[in-house]
Amino acid sequence: MTNYLEELNESQRNAVLYNEGPSLVIAGAGSGKTRVLTYKIAYLLEQGYTPWSILALTFTNKAAREMKERIARQVGDQARYLWMGTFHSIFSRILRCESQSIGFTSNFTIYDSSDSKSLIKSIVKEMQLDDKTYKPGLIQARISNAKNHLVFPDAYASNAELYQYDVNAKVPATRDIYRRYWERCRQSDAMDFDDLLVYTYLLFRDYPEICRKYAEQFRYVLVDEYQDTNFAQHSIVLQLTREHQRVCVVGDDAQSIYSFRGANIDNILKFTQLYKGARLFKLEQNYRSTQTIVCAANSLIEKNSEQIRKEVFSEKAKGEPIGVFNAYSDVEEGEIVANQIVKLRSREHYSYNDFAILYRTNAQSRIFEEALRKRSLPYKIYGGLSFYQRKEIKDVISYFRLAVNPNDEEAFKRVLNYPARGIGDTTLNKVIDAATQHHVSLWRVLEEPLAYGLNINKGTHAKLQGFRELVESFIVEVPEKNAYELGAMIVRQSGIMTEIYQSNDPENLSRQENIEELINGMHDFCATREEEGNENILLTDFLSEVSLLTDQDNEKEGDAEKITLMTIHSAKGLEFKNVFVVGLEENLFPSALSLNSYKELEEERRLFYVAITRAEEHCYLSFAKSRFKYGKMEFSSPSRFLKDIDIHFLKLPQEEQMARRIDEGASRFRREQNERPSRSLFDESASQPSYGRSSSSPSGQKPFSAGERPKAEIIRPSVPRNLTKVGPATASKPSAAGTLPVNVQAGQVIEHERFGIGDVIKVEGTGENSKATVRFRNAGEKQLLLKFARFKVV
Ligand code: ATP
Ligand code: MG
Repeated sequence: MTNYLEELNESQRNAVLYNEGPSLVIAGAGSGKTRVLTYKIAYLLEQGYTPWSILALTFTNKAAREMKERIARQVGDQARYLWMGTFHSIFSRILRCESQSIGFTSNFTIYDSSDSKSLIKSIVKEMQLDDKTYKPGLIQARISNAKNHLVFPDAYASNAELYQYDVNAKVPATRDIYRRYWERCRQSDAMDFDDLLVYTYLLFRDYPEICRKYAEQFRYVLVDEYQDTNFAQHSIVLQLTREHQRVCVVGDDAQSIYSFRGANIDNILKFTQLYKGARLFKLEQNYRSTQTIVCAANSLIEKNSEQIRKEVFSEKAKGEPIGVFNAYSDVEEGEIVANQIVKLRSREHYSYNDFAILYRTNAQSRIFEEALRKRSLPYKIYGGLSFYQRKEIKDVISYFRLAVNPNDEEAFKRVLNYPARGIGDTTLNKVIDAATQHHVSLWRVLEEPLAYGLNINKGTHAKLQGFRELVESFIVEVPEKNAYELGAMIVRQSGIMTEIYQSNDPENLSRQENIEELINGMHDFCATREEEGNENILLTDFLSEVSLLTDQDNEKEGDAEKITLMTIHSAKGLEFKNVFVVGLEENLFPSALSLNSYKELEEERRLFYVAITRAEEHCYLSFAKSRFKYGKMEFSSPSRFLKDIDIHFLKLPQEEQMARRIDEGASRFRREQNERPSRSLFDESASQPSYGRSSSSPSGQKPFSAGERPKAEIIRPSVPRNLTKVGPATASKPSAAGTLPVNVQAGQVIEHERFGIGDVIKVEGTGENSKATVRFRNAGEKQLLLKFARFKVV
């Protein structure tokens, strides 16, 4: 037996060694599912499988890269030839080879989400529909949902399940928009993200010989994070493995967080029905986190009613309780988290790489960025407005896209009059009309304006021809120059650089720098590919790579240590020594959109489970009492999820304050208590924590008690006394805006809704106009007009 198999426990090893038929590994977070997949691939290679006969589908490109590196350490250089990547990147590679069969060229464009939305928007407009009723974002989500369920335009209207949310009157139009969108993408030689799955499925369905070719090539298919595959992905895996049945999928139903993209837990449940005789492996030991973190996560997820029963335990150190921070405001939350990072880092000598701040929505990142910047703490941020979404970069890339595929409608529309060349919207609309009427691309109309009846004057005609010649001068260079050379040429000759240079926008310098960075990046891209032994790295290659970047790939990997900021969704599969899960407030986490259905609420809870289980050593939860949302301050109460975690695994903040906040929600909480007799955050008689095996069974009953695992130490932290009392609110409410202020004098201490605790330094003016200068402990010195200030004297 080789070394690496000894780095697995018995259940993991059994899962790796079993290759006689289909297998499914279902296990909780951190139990080594990804490790099993990685080692299994190494094992298969050792058993004589060639690397190109193994297809491994991962959640991000980064995950694929890391897996490859790890396998290379076991089996050497051959790991390079594995087919390993995201569903989208692997299938786009296949589609580029087979595109002719399904009516695309091998240079087809991949539309990103903003391209799709913009196309839908213009279709809604052309159809003279009201864009308040037919909101492009909503239509986009419907179309995407239909595609993920493999429901195509003609079938859409007869699929009641999919448009159940459509008001009856809207259905025909939604279907027509979908149909038109579908055609327009085809005419543009473009696929959106969902199409990469849809066309792979159709390719394999309609061309059995092609399907057979790939099924024979991929003698073994492995899928990580199987709980988040949607119907289309799951169907393609089935197309490839139905014959030979050599397939291994790993996943955790408790971490299914993509149902809004059509992912379906049922795929896991159906697996054993579809693959008869599939072996199920369960892994129970968590190797990532402390006992406290594992038990806290278990106590949370057991509040979900829909789940596959499983056990997770850790034999790592007991660890510290999960810290809970309450902040007065979002700004203070940022301060607290940043301070804690500084404190922990100096106390335990962590690297900045060991810290992650995870949030529910990208919009929350700004406050943390500011707090970190203020302390000169280095950080990297994933997602949000990525480099490639910036205006100037999208403009340049649109020229690249046209050079590679001039039929690309979205790129065409974006740069037809950028830099300005006197071609207005009227002309563009005429081109679109002609193209729609004749079912051709916009570019085709430009090539033969008369043949398509384009009614324009001579001057406009000349301008359109000028644009055409410019793009043609790039097109001829595509097979001649490498990506970097052509990229640099396009930037120069398109006039974008001059345009930016000449305008008076204060952002100009950073725009120029961004474009330079893009070109430098292309240089590195070509150099790396050449080092890997490839020749002729074309613009096409660069574009295919760029269009498939995921949120996790946005950030360039550097050597410098940095704190990670990302959404919980993109943190899936990752691990960090210290994790801060922030913004634990009602209407934010759980999201306001999820409150109406228990299914969605359970998905939010799974998301919280994913967040906590990223932590290895320390986990902190925080919430703010008020935060700026949509330009105004809103007050919030702590997330209900905080109460789902067994109190024994939490370290609550300055207890007195916490108790007060909790008291505010006491009556609601007591109601919940009566409805649900499970353990609670505030119940002194709550069962003591078990650090042995604990089950996440829906019933909440533990099949193993603490004593059954002698190795595991049992700790019984005391319940903070003042939290056990659930009485009526004793704290006085802050004065509401508009009411007369409390009499404030210098020397008093106040508690402000947004800035927290502060000392009043002086008070000026009288009556309506009195103003106080207050030095807040966490927010610095502020002047408050007492008439409007929301505070109370403490
Ligand atoms: P997630 O559900 O979050 O994706 P996972 O089940 O895929 O988690 P891994 O990421 O494979 O879990 O493993 C979690 C951590 O535990 C990793 O750091 C991994 O290297 C380590 N690990 C897994 N199995 C073992 C083992 N047998 N011995 C030591 N460490 C292990
Ligand atoms: Mg994993």
